[in-house]
Amino acid sequence: MYEVKSLGIFVGQGKCNAHCAHCAGVVHRKYAPKKDGIIDKELIYKTLKYCYSKGARSLSITSSGEPTLSPLAITKALNLVYNLKKENINYTWINLYSNGIRIGEDKEFCKKYLSLWKDSGLKTIYITVHNINEKKNAKLYNIKKYPPLERIVSRIHNENILTRANLVLSKNNIDTSEKFVSFVKDLRKIGFDHISAWSIRNLEDKVDLELSPNKEELDKMEYWIEKNKDPKCRIRLLRENSRILYESGKKLTLFPDGKLTNSWCN
Ligand code: SF4
Repeated sequence: MYEVKSLGIFVGQGKCNAHCAHCAGVVHRKYAPKKDGIIDKELIYKTLKYCYSKGARSLSITSSGEPTLSPLAITKALNLVYNLKKENINYTWINLYSNGIRIGEDKEFCKKYLSLWKDSGLKTIYITVHNINEKKNAKLYNIKKYPPLERIVSRIHNENILTRANLVLSKNNIDTSEKFVSFVKDLRKIGFDHISAWSIRNLEDKVDLELSPNKEELDKMEYWIEKNKDPKCRIRLLRENSRILYESGKKLTLFPDGKLTNSWCN
């Protein structure tokens, strides 16, 4: 059994182009660099090596803000991971979290960076999806306009990078299995390759029982996923038992303050 399954690293300045009501990144921003392009190379290098030696093969790049607003830092981090191949350290799954806004709005950015990141090993971009409807998405992101999901997915696919939709289930968007199934079908039509969903959590990192779908509905969603398995699209509902990986330290995250811990939920 491996001691560590996956590693997450915080990269970038912590700037964001959205203003979500409950942003888990805010508390970490004071430790983030003030300029794009700055990464703690030595610490990231040591952490990547250590986690690999403990079994980690999957790496997720996240941020206390929106990672695509710090493209130089992301490029540097990916280059660092790529160069580790010379030392036989090969992270086979490299994922990047994003809210999708810059990808959908800035064509030049996509041209300049997505293929570069793909060549450095990026496999999947995880897009947080609050709603299929652009206006409702904009409302939850607290911004004027959110780009069409179809455009975001196609720009990512154009560079041969996979997409995963991350759904945060709440009474504000999906609280019944019926809505969940319809959402999943719509996301598949839009072209998402994979879908992961979990219940909304509170600031203490516990399931928000007031806002989360109830247990009966979550059971029904789980049942539907089991009955509708599709080898081309991995659909997952992460429930409390999935958190064992965090609690047992199999999922580690390197935070902007330099701490490596199992306390991040994403
Ligand atoms: S998109 Fe992410 S980082 Fe930006 S405000 Fe929302 S939760 Fe925070």
